[in-house]
Order: sequence, then structure tokens, then C-alpha cells
Amino acid sequence: MPELPEVETIARGLAKRVTGDVVESVWLGQKKEPLKSSASEIAATLERSRIAAVRRMGKHIVFDLEQDQVHVARAPSPARGRSANRKRNEMESAQASSITPAQAGVGTRPTYNKAQWIVHLGMTGRLQVCEPQSEVAKHTHAILRLSSGRELRFVDPRRFGRLSVAQAGDFDAAGVEPLEVDLDRFLALFRGRKTPIKSALLNQNLLRGVGNIYADESLFRAGLRPRRRASTITREQLGKLLAAVKEVLQEAITLGGSSISDYVNSDGEEGFFQLRHRVYGREDEPCLVCKTPIKRIVIAGRSSHYCPTCQK
Ligand SMILES: [Zn+2]
Repeated sequence: MPELPEVETIARGLAKRVTGDVVESVWLGQKKEPLKSSASEIAATLERSRIAAVRRMGKHIVFDLEQDQVHVARAPSPARGRSANRKRNEMESAQASSITPAQAGVGTRPTYNKAQWIVHLGMTGRLQVCEPQSEVAKHTHAILRLSSGRELRFVDPRRFGRLSVAQAGDFDAAGVEPLEVDLDRFLALFRGRKTPIKSALLNQNLLRGVGNIYADESLFRAGLRPRRRASTITREQLGKLLAAVKEVLQEAITLGGSSISDYVNSDGEEGFFQLRHRVYGREDEPCLVCKTPIKRIVIAGRSSHYCPTCQK
């Protein structure tokens, strides 16, 4: 599953390639699982929208969209071949013709409809920017045709990925951003929590997007055992932990995200550089600091790796 550093890397790659481009038309596949918003709502929100920005929020990729009302009013696009969109286009044309240029903001400020397209990659989702003639991969669930002539495609064999849309500023992932949170806010997350610190780190309602690998690596660097009750950890140790979380995520982002799954970045290149794991996946191998064999335990169904000597 792509973790925060991979998603950050993908979002940055996409931002470079599609920011400023306009979605001309949208094709959506028949499979229902990937569509968290309805197909008609997704198409209506995306079509003729300009991609103003692409960014990561937790493990979501958020496309900030702007729909120019003046443009919509003056140039309702003709109905396209896609039957699913034809009816909608006719409706929009009808609505658009009732908007006068003055109402649409001509001569004043241009008005924009702001919205967001939100993509969660799930286990095997990928976003590809490609030329229209390139072969459409099996398990392609969405194709956005861009005014630059390229296509942005969402491919997901296992269909745990999700596509949705939200109106301006509506979308807000739960939890706080681990790379932005300050110490006071971080301390407050764990106050009074009797759960193991590892579970608390993975709780998406507390922190956004810290996955299993990065939780283990952060706990090792902070010298904390994964089973330690969150509420028993001192302020100073939590300060160390926050620094470790930021350091580990930042290192992985710098390296382009580490990944174990079959995974392709936005340029279609396979694989990422791997962060050198100090504990994750190193059961029975010697600790890189003290040579004690690394232990593996299971907490809430997830593997946790730690050094019984270095971590208390
Ligand atoms: Zn050790």
C-alpha cells in the first residue's frame, strides 16, 4: 500500500505535469467500487475544470479545481460521444444560456466554482499521465482527457482505491498532518490514551497517513517500544518521537518514497528507492546499533518490529 511518502512523491510528480491543464472530458468505467461520489457528480465536477493545484492530504491526492463561470456561460461544450455525459451536457447548455455575461461576472472579477477531486490509491491504485494513443491498461476505471492533449488515467486492479469530489474546501481528511503538527498539538493527541503507542501512531483520526513501516522506524529512532502505553510516555520522549516521525517521513520523501508493493509513480516508472529500514522487516537480524536480534510482535493485527535493548 502506498504510504505517505509515496503519495507525497506522486502528488508532486502530478503537480508538475498537470497543474494548469483543463479537463475536457471524463470517461468512467462500469465498476462501482472505485466511485465514492456518483459517476455523474464526478464527471460534472471535473469536466471543463482547470487543475489549479495538486497536493497530498494524509494519504489522499487532492486536485484543486476551478471552473470558470464566464467560460462555461459562453462556450457550453457540445455533447460528446459518451452517452453517459450527453444528457448532462444538454442540461448544462440549457442552464448556461440563461446566465448573462454580466451575471457571470464579465467586466468585474472572473468568478470560479471551486471544487476538489480526491483520489485515494488504496492498495494498487495508480495515476498515469499518458498520450491518448498509449494502450489503455486493464483495470482502468477513469480517463480524464486534458486540453494539453494528454490523458490522466486511474488504474486499480484490486479496486481498493477511491475517487470522489467535494465542493470548495469541503474535503478535510481526519487527523493532523504529521509533517506540520507542532509539539503541543502532538502531545495532546496522546494524552490519556491507554492504547499502545504503535496503535496510536497508526490511528488515522489522530495522525494522517503514518503507516506501519514509518511507525516502526520512528519508534526505533525515538527509543520507544511499540507496546508502550501512549499515556505513560513523557513529554520529552514524545518530543523525540515527533522529531523521529518527521525525520523518517522526510527522508523517505527525499528518496522518492520507499515501497514494497507493485507500485508505479506518476511518470509510470516502477519502484522507488528504499529507505534503509533499521527495524522494519528485519526480524532476528542484528540491531544496527547494539546487535541484539530485532523482535517482531503483532499489535492489532499488524507486524511490529523493535530492538528489545534500544527501545524501552
Ligand atoms: Zn538495539
